[in-house]
Amino acid sequence: MPYAYDDQNIFAKILRGEIPNKTVAESDHTLAFADINPAAPVHVLVIPKGAYVCFDHFAAEASDAEIADFHRVAARICVELGVSPGDGKAGYRTISNAGADAVQEVPHYHMHIVGGRPLGQMLQKPA
Ligand code: 5GP
Repeated sequence: MPYAYDDQNIFAKILRGEIPNKTVAESDHTLAFADINPAAPVHVLVIPKGAYVCFDHFAAEASDAEIADFHRVAARICVELGVSPGDGKAGYRTISNAGADAVQEVPHYHMHIVGGRPLGQMLQKPA
């Protein structure tokens, strides 16, 4: 499936250094930074440096090196920010919104890492 990547999206501007960010981690293929409007005490966005619109675009078309790097960086952040259950901490949630039904605001693939407080159930069921 073809994806049209909008290189004027806000995360593309962050990657080009046109907009500042609070960087949490950076590697060859990946950038992680604080969400500007945090939903919890820990709220980090992990993005690939490549031009991918959403999860399935990234997972289908990125190189193995990009995909591995992205997840290794995300995993390190969970440990470094003190939320990993593997370290006996209280946990976190990863979220990746894709497209209109998920209300994806920024059309550059990103994983939210959210934690630092009880997060409740994953989704509210329709009434
Ligand atoms: P989405 O709804 O696309 O999954 O999430 C986009 C996220 O990007 C939101 O949580 C929003 O707060 C965050 N965001 C939007 N603009 C900026 C920005 O300029 N800087 C940072 N750090 N986060 C942003």
